[in-house]
Amino acid sequence: MAATQTKLRKDSPSKESQKESAQAPTFDLAQYGITVADIRRNLSPAELYKEALRQDAQCDVADTGALIALSGEKTGRSPKDKRVVEHPDSKGEVWWGSVNVPIDNETFDVNRERAIDYLNTRQRLYVVDAFAGWDPKNRARVRIICTRPYHALFMHIMLIRPTADELRSFGEPDVVIYNAGEFPANQRTKGMTSKTSVDLSLERKEFVILGTEYAGEMKKGVFTMMNYFGPKRGILSMHCSATADKKTGLSSLLFGLSGTGKTTLSADPGRLLIGDDEHCWSDQGIFNIEGGCYAKAIDLTPESEPEIFQALRFGAVLENVVFDPETHAVDFHDTSITQNTRGAYPIEFIRNAKIPCVAGHPTDVIFLTCDAFGVLPPVSKLTPAQAMYHFISGYTAKVAGTEMGVTEPQATFSPCFGGPFLVWRPAKYAELLAKKMEQHKANAWLVNTGWSGGSHGTGSRMKLKLTRAIITAIHNGDLAKAKTQRDPVFGFDVPIACPDVPSEILIPRNTWSDKASYDATAQKLAGLFRSNFEKYADGARPDVRAAGPAAT
Ligand code: ATP
Ligand code: MN
Repeated sequence: MAATQTKLRKDSPSKESQKESAQAPTFDLAQYGITVADIRRNLSPAELYKEALRQDAQCDVADTGALIALSGEKTGRSPKDKRVVEHPDSKGEVWWGSVNVPIDNETFDVNRERAIDYLNTRQRLYVVDAFAGWDPKNRARVRIICTRPYHALFMHIMLIRPTADELRSFGEPDVVIYNAGEFPANQRTKGMTSKTSVDLSLERKEFVILGTEYAGEMKKGVFTMMNYFGPKRGILSMHCSATADKKTGLSSLLFGLSGTGKTTLSADPGRLLIGDDEHCWSDQGIFNIEGGCYAKAIDLTPESEPEIFQALRFGAVLENVVFDPETHAVDFHDTSITQNTRGAYPIEFIRNAKIPCVAGHPTDVIFLTCDAFGVLPPVSKLTPAQAMYHFISGYTAKVAGTEMGVTEPQATFSPCFGGPFLVWRPAKYAELLAKKMEQHKANAWLVNTGWSGGSHGTGSRMKLKLTRAIITAIHNGDLAKAKTQRDPVFGFDVPIACPDVPSEILIPRNTWSDKASYDATAQKLAGLFRSNFEKYADGARPDVRAAGPAAT
């Protein structure tokens, strides 16, 4: 067996030892107090598969070649467990509160040391050195230190992979993430409220992860850093997907909270894909922060989402999916581990991805919302003031299950469509967006990918095909020309015709059999918007304040 393996491998052991002696200096993590000798830096996907399948009982391979991994107890982010060091240099800049809960430097050090102590108990560690940001002038060098090969593969996918030359000259990273997620935080440590702690120091540019192995925590950690350092330099960081026009190279942005369709709708064969989740807008145009995509995998089918389906192959990671023990075929409808099953793949796995992932200034800024009340129109055109109002509101709705199978929509408002990742106050991002949209004359739209024909329970989710037709009509200019009708409650202009979309669904009231119920539900949602906006009213421009639904 060993002989065959030696033959099969180009890099035979003798050649490897030659390489080692010629290739000084060897890589270590001594500067962080990490003494583990066996450090595997930037392994190839194939090597990471090998490690994952040999060392990690929570990993397997799908029949399509994707690496399957279980993330353990946590199958989503832990926003309540995020902490930010309160430091004199950044104290006045940070939006303190439930998103950014302060801890002192001492507590950060305790958790950092705890993570490092744990890392030091491991036989072997994995390091991924890679970039965040496709604009070479504005990219950050990121170092991930982790224990699970699947985490290394995930960040190899999600960050921008350096070339061999770039890796050789990588130097010292700008940002370091210590992922000791297998090991819990100590609840007796000051400021800890659970066994999970995700701690950020803006001054040290370090992230410490304890008590969660959900891989998305690392990617959103990098995004949070960008959300601090971007605006500091006048660069707007945004929780949105982006596509570009094949002819003009100009872009379009899709903002939205989780599950509203950023990833799904950005995989659009008619457009170039720039990225599915995190972008920056600079004076030169837009650029993706990431090198990969992280799609929701629930109910994925090759018919409805062919681009994403085919991307989940060798080199991709499938998190928390259930598969057939014999064939290893994945059942995307099985949510017994979590509703939040995910697939991560390098962006070039999408055939029309544009590499490098940069594009011109946006022609359109689209806010996606999944309105489970079913009262917002499938598409509305927003004035600049309405755009700011909706950006600050960041509305979507969840369908929360209650006792006895009764479900009731629950409104979520998250400023800038990405509250959990903001570091500055929302107004900082809103002002930058307003300025840039005005400067580049971008149109603003609100697209409801949620319910039509009634609230959740009576109506049904907007057909993906119809939402895609709406997005296409925005991009080719059809909707900018369409006749509109003013919504009496929300005040925006609603296009009354759109190619490939039945006109009767464009005005939601028409689709409800019970008009009185529509009116009451619309008023209810309007009220939720108004009471949420009160939090931001003081700092908002008067025209923005007036751009929400009118009080009755
Ligand atoms: P996250 O920030 O968590 O990554 P996201 O905004 O990228 O969320 P998607 O991964 O695109 O969200 O998830 C949208 C989900 O909703 C997909 O599972 C998609 O199949 C489903 N869906 C159903 N109908 C629609 C629709 N009309 N438009 C968009 N998505 C839809
Ligand atoms: Mn997404």
